[in-house]
Amino acid sequence: MTCDNLQTIEKNIAQAAVQSGRTTQSVQLVAVSKRKDIEVIKQAVSCGQRVFGENYLQEAELKITTLKNKNLCWHFIGHLQSNKARLAAELFDVIETVDRIKIARALDRHATAQNKELRIFVQVNIGREKQKHGVLPEDAENLLKLINQETQLKILGLMGMPPHTSDPGASRSYFRDIKKLSNQLAQKKVFADNNDVQLSMGMSADYTIAIEEGATLVRVGTALFGRRE
Ligand SMILES: *Cc1c(COP(=O)(O)O)cnc(C)c1O
Repeated sequence: MTCDNLQTIEKNIAQAAVQSGRTTQSVQLVAVSKRKDIEVIKQAVSCGQRVFGENYLQEAELKITTLKNKNLCWHFIGHLQSNKARLAAELFDVIETVDRIKIARALDRHATAQNKELRIFVQVNIGREKQKHGVLPEDAENLLKLINQETQLKILGLMGMPPHTSDPGASRSYFRDIKKLSNQLAQKKVFADNNDVQLSMGMSADYTIAIEEGATLVRVGTALFGRRE
């Protein structure tokens, strides 16, 4: 990883944001560092990157505790089991993959015990894929309402992943669907800030398309750090 990679991605993000009539600052880069070692993360930090995404708790624990004094922001983007909620709530600033009330309750219980305000995204299974996690679009309203009723978790917005494809353009309609769903849900006042709903969508292959369709966070790994083992 070099600072050049980061600069190129930042430039692409800025371009896509401006092209779609938004400010550069309205889109945040989450650097996905899963299966990359800590030296690579340190390098990215030295180039100015502060927000990182990790998928696996065990792997993330060492990185996060080692880099504690660097004042970074860590997003959990993997699948979370309830029995791991305590560690996840302790380590991470933002959990992007809340998709059922049970995990929300568990995260809330542990965050409260740790006196921590935990921010979350609700993950939506926008392509209705059997093998993917996430709440189905038609069940999202109910889940967000329950989370608000039963927990102190701060719901920033929605996170989603289109079905895997070799054609990045095919993702566009799914990004559009997530955006549309977030607009509908914002009218029901279910987010922490209904005038500024966050959308985490877009990865290495399609982040500029996601930004054109309203992404406020893009999760980029390969394009930044190279291929994973
Ligand atoms: C691995 C991963 C990414 C990054 O994917 P790249 O294609 O390497 O950019 C983004 N989001 C999630 C949820 C991931 O698991």
